[in-house]
Order: sequence, then structure tokens, then C-alpha cells
Amino acid sequence: MSEEKFAFNADIEQLMSLIINTFYSNKEIFLRELISNASDALDKIRYNSITEPEQLETEPDMKIKIIPDKTNNTLTIWDSGVGMSKLDLVNNLGTIAKSGTRHFMEAVQAGADISMIGQFGVGFYSAYLVAEKVTVVSKNNADEQYIWESNAGGTFTIKQDADSEAITRGTKIVLTLKEDQSEFLEERRLKDLIKKHSEFIGFPIELMVEKTTDKEVTDSDDEEEEKKEEDKKDDNEENKDEEPKIEEEKKEKVKKTKKIKEVTHEYEILNKTKPIWMRKADDITKDEYASFYKSISNDWEEHLAVKHFNVEGQLEFNALLFVPKRAPFDLFENKKKKNNLKLYVRRVFIMDDCEDLIPEWLSFVKGVVDSNDLPLNISRETLQQNKILKVIKKNIVKKCLEMFAEIADNQEDYKKFYEQFSKNLKLGIHEDTANRKKLAELLRFHTSKSGEDQISFKDYVSRMKEGQKDIFYITGESRASVAQSPFIETLRKKGYEVLYLVDPIDEYMVQQMKDYEDHKLKSVTKEGLDMDDTEDEKKKKEEEKAKFEPLCKLMKEILGDKVEKVVLSTRIDESPCVLVTSEFGWSANMERIMKAQALRDSSTSSYMVSKKTLELNPRHQIVDELRKKAEVDQSDKTVKDLVWLMYETSILTSGFSLDEPQNFASRIHRMIKLGLSIFEEDNKEDDDDLPPLEEDAEEIDTNMMEKVD
Ligand code: ADP
Repeated sequence: MSEEKFAFNADIEQLMSLIINTFYSNKEIFLRELISNASDALDKIRYNSITEPEQLETEPDMKIKIIPDKTNNTLTIWDSGVGMSKLDLVNNLGTIAKSGTRHFMEAVQAGADISMIGQFGVGFYSAYLVAEKVTVVSKNNADEQYIWESNAGGTFTIKQDADSEAITRGTKIVLTLKEDQSEFLEERRLKDLIKKHSEFIGFPIELMVEKTTDKEVTDSDDEEEEKKEEDKKDDNEENKDEEPKIEEEKKEKVKKTKKIKEVTHEYEILNKTKPIWMRKADDITKDEYASFYKSISNDWEEHLAVKHFNVEGQLEFNALLFVPKRAPFDLFENKKKKNNLKLYVRRVFIMDDCEDLIPEWLSFVKGVVDSNDLPLNISRETLQQNKILKVIKKNIVKKCLEMFAEIADNQEDYKKFYEQFSKNLKLGIHEDTANRKKLAELLRFHTSKSGEDQISFKDYVSRMKEGQKDIFYITGESRASVAQSPFIETLRKKGYEVLYLVDPIDEYMVQQMKDYEDHKLKSVTKEGLDMDDTEDEKKKKEEEKAKFEPLCKLMKEILGDKVEKVVLSTRIDESPCVLVTSEFGWSANMERIMKAQALRDSSTSSYMVSKKTLELNPRHQIVDELRKKAEVDQSDKTVKDLVWLMYETSILTSGFSLDEPQNFASRIHRMIKLGLSIFEEDNKEDDDDLPPLEEDAEEIDTNMMEKVD
């Protein structure tokens, strides 16, 4: 038969060389990966046979066989699953790289453990941890039997298989082990490994074991010796003989035989196949859950939490749900699997990744759902309409929330959970109206008072100031930036606590979550901030308002469309001014996030970009001086220039970005020149928006001169 040679996809080639060349001692994981693939292949044929029972006829027996062969130094993993056609072999084992291929290499280079390989969907190649050559013989129902083979090194071959032991259906993976890997031919080692990693595979795993039995064979050479022995026996048993004649005959026979050790091979079943989710929760140990979790998730670490339950009554199903310790690498990638729950119907695996079983925000939850009510031959299309499935989904969400609340009982565990999955909870708030309340209880935030800790809304409310009605929050790029933000100056001074919402998804979340219990959530960077002033404070504000009215009016005139209005601020204490957005428009932080989204349609931004209000701090020296200056001469060019500078600096301190950084820079440069007493004739020719600052020159000049001197 002619043999075809193929080059591995470049990424896969790199992956294989990484697997072969990285020093890694935990090589045993290859077996778990190959058994897991075998189990998947068996699941597939069982599923296919629901609609086409004849598919199973080619090989009704569904199992996995493990065959160590010391003579040839090979280990074979054989399954009677769906098998692969020639095209499948070419595509699945070498020419089409999955996204996980690159991700896995990056992860390993960043220090991740090779045993994570299964999570990245490239588990097959772990065979090269122990094998110098891998031979895959496979047959599916639609094609002939083919052999794939590779010693790594960039290429693999495929040929039709006429000679080898025929496979009726399925895949046989023959690993020619590297010289130093013969431990994987030892029965004890294989048994331990399968127990450790593959105990919960839902198909029988049979290991070929050697049995040595004593067998009696005829052998005349040893007759003398046997005779002596028999004589001894005779002495002992002399008195017991009740039927001497028969005994005589026996002796005759014994004389001609001897015992030798005979080696036979037989299969021994290694796993219990009763599904763990059908067993009683009380009878299952933590280790058993962990081991099952690892087998379905490809995770190398234990789960963080588990929920095992069954629902009875009108609707019956069993479920086993797990929260991993870590978020997967592709948690929010578009092309990734929608979820990680396996759907079974009456113990038969139906599908992975059933979209209608669990909402997207819970896609990190792994596990199994086994329904007694769904029809076996249910298809993806009919699932969508299925009422039973809708009820199952609702129950699963409820149980997940219960499980998260249970994790929250242990602070340390919850911290881990929250670090990994807080984005999912927030996505849940955004999408799941019905469960928003419960989800809100699960959120945690750093605040202006919490230091390194994170607190819940409940904590926040319990320590609100007397008379405080609203919950204050600030959104921004990082904890450091919001902590210094001018927007919280007064709140801080008055002793109010402010939640720091610094995850981009927080912006989306607060669009949906308007309140907690009876307290409104108030952004401190937006209009409509009410700080429960005392009567005295109110009176003082009225006075200030009247006093600064002309300045506010003048500044609005100068800034034109750039701001909606100019008003006095209650929220700033040390800064001269800030830019506030309207209550329902985007915050500065949201503007930043939206600008950063490369693929967004930029037309929406024009109407979502909020109108801005410039707020002045009447108690700030700069503002007060400006007021005085403006009172003297409204058309003073310096006033105009300073107003622009104040506006532009507040753009920066309020978290926006400058549209025209050049203008801002020019103004600053001219200030610097003044400071350095550089006077240029052509300064006078500057355009109207950027008037020279000569009037100030003398004051600044003398100050600077003194310092320089
Ligand atoms: P994953 O199993 O995560 O998809 P692998 O690298 O382990 O990634 O396997 C790649 C593909 O090769 C599988 O998706 C499957 O289509 C095919 N495959 C691997 N082993 C078997 C097998 N024993 N029987 C049938 N197909 C298999």
C-alpha cells in the first residue's frame, strides 16, 4: 500500500518539540489524556447509535483496552469508539492547529505545568512524553482502516492498512516507548495510574494482565524424584487409606506429571462504571469527587467547590456541578465552548456544550447533568424549544448561586473564587434580571476605607453614615487612580465611604444595577450627587453661588460647546475644578473603555458621549483669583487663556483624554517660557484661542527669578 507523507502544521510541530524537549518529570499524564480521548470517541459512537442503531453493529462492545507488551516495548490504548477516517487522521492529528496549541505553548513558557495540556485541546500529543514513535490505527464506519505514524520530527505518514490485525471499529494507539519509559509496561504502575486518573471513565477499562498458573504436565525425566516424594506421602497417609485401590491408580498418574508455571494473558476490568452522579452524595468522598472532576475537566488541580444534587417530582434529574480553582485561558473568547456541562439522558452521554443548559455567565461551571425526562434522540435544534430543559436550566442557576454563597462562608476560598470569576458574576448582573438580587450579595469591592480588603454591599450599608441615603461609587482605570481622584475629595473629608469600581465590566454592571436594597447607587463623577448638607452648608452654598455666578457665566462663554454648563461643585475640596458627566450618559471611564474597543462602530459614540459640566471649587484660591480678575475686565486675554488651561487640566484629572493635546501643550509651553523669562517677538502673532500671557509675565517672572537666583 502506498504511503503518504504529511508535514505537521508549524504550531503543532513546535508543540511536539516542546513536549519532547522540555524537562518534565510528570510524564504519566499521557495515559489519562489518551484514555480520555478514547472515552470521548466511545461517547460519540453511542450518541450516533441513538439515531442510527446500525452504527453500533460493527462492534457492539464499547470499551477501552490497555495492552502492555514487554517483548516489543509497546503500550497500546485501544478503544471501540467512532474511529477516524483518513481525513480525520490527517486533520485531527497534525495539520489543523487549534487555538489552544499556541495558548498552551505560551502558558508553558510562562511557567504553566505541562499536565494542563488537556485543557488546551491538544492532549493527544502528550503521547510524545513517553513514546519515540506513535502509531495510530483507526477505522470508522464510513472508511477503510488507516495507519497514522510519526516519530515526531516534523512529519507523519498515512497509509491504508491491510496487514495489521483488523479493527472492526475504533482506534488503536500504539506507543513505542522511549528506552527509559518501560515503567509504563508494569502492571502495578498502570493499575495505579488508571485508578488515580481514570477511575470515573464511563466505559470499562480493561488491562491485559499476565496470569501465571501452576500447570501439571507429563514429564518422564523427573520420575525418580517424584517417586521419592510420593513415597514420603505414602508413609504419612498410610493409615488413612480406606480405598487403597483407587489411590493406587492416582499414584500411577502422578508419577508421570510435573507442575510448571504457565503464563497466560487475560483482561482485567479496572474501573467501576457506575456513574458517580447516580450514587448517594453521602457515600462519596472528597477524593472521589476530585478525581471525577479532574477526569471530566482535564484540570490538574482539584475543584474549589462541588454541588451534587438530584431533583425529583414532576421533573427528575441528577447533577454534579464543580467550580474550578482557576478560570480557563479562554474564558471570554468568542470561539470557545459555550459551556462545560455534559448532558446525559438516562446515563447515555448526549452532548457537551449544550447551549441551553446553563447561561453564558456560568460557562466556567463544569459538571454533568443527567435527565430522566428528555428523549434520548433529542437534537440540538429541538433542545432550544424544550420546556424540560428550561426548567433544568433554572434549577442549575439556582444551585450554582447556592454553591457560590457556600464558598463565601470561607473567606479564603471566596477570595480565590472572586479573583477568578468576579467578571462572570458581574456579567450575570448584567444579563440575569431574575437573579440580580442574589448576585449583588456576592459582589465585593475595594473602597475608600477598606484598604486591602474587599467588602460587600451588605458591609457597606451596615457602616453607612447616619442619614446617608445613597451608595457612592467611582469608576476608573485602577485603584490608584480613583483613590486620588478629585471627585471623592469632599466625600472623603465628610467621612463617606466610596466603592471603587475599577473593572471595565463594572461600568456595564452599574448600568443594570441601579440600587441595592433601598439605596440608590450614585456615581460620584456624574451629576446629581446629593451629599446631605446641613442647613448652614446649604446657606453658604447659596451665597457662594451668587458670588461666582458671573465667573461661571463667563467661563461657559469662553468654553462654548465644550461644556454644557459651568457650576459650583460640592464634591471637590482641594482641586480647583472637575468635569462631571450627565447622570445617564457615559462616565469618563466608559468613554475610555469604548474608545479602546477597536472593532466598535464609532457612530454610536457621538450620541452616547455625555455632555460635560465643569464644576468649580469656590473655596480654591485659583478660582477665587480668577473671579476677581474677571470682575475687573471680562475681556482680559489672560483670563481666557487660564480658563482654557483649567478646562484642559480638568479633562485630565477627571479621567478623560485630550482631543487636541497640541493646543494644551502650546499653552503650557508658553507658561514655561514665561517662567524662564523667554520673550519672543512672534509670540504676539498667536491665534485668538491662544493669547499671549504677557500680562502675567511680570508677576511670574519675578517669582521665578527669585527662585533661580
Ligand atoms: P481533544 O481531544 O481535546 O480534542 P486531542 O489533541 O487529544 O484534543 O485530540 C485531537 C482530536 O483527535 C480529537 O478531537 C479527536 O477528534 C481525535 N481523536 C483523538 N483520539 C481519538 C480516538 N481515540 N478516537 C477518535 N478520535 C480521536
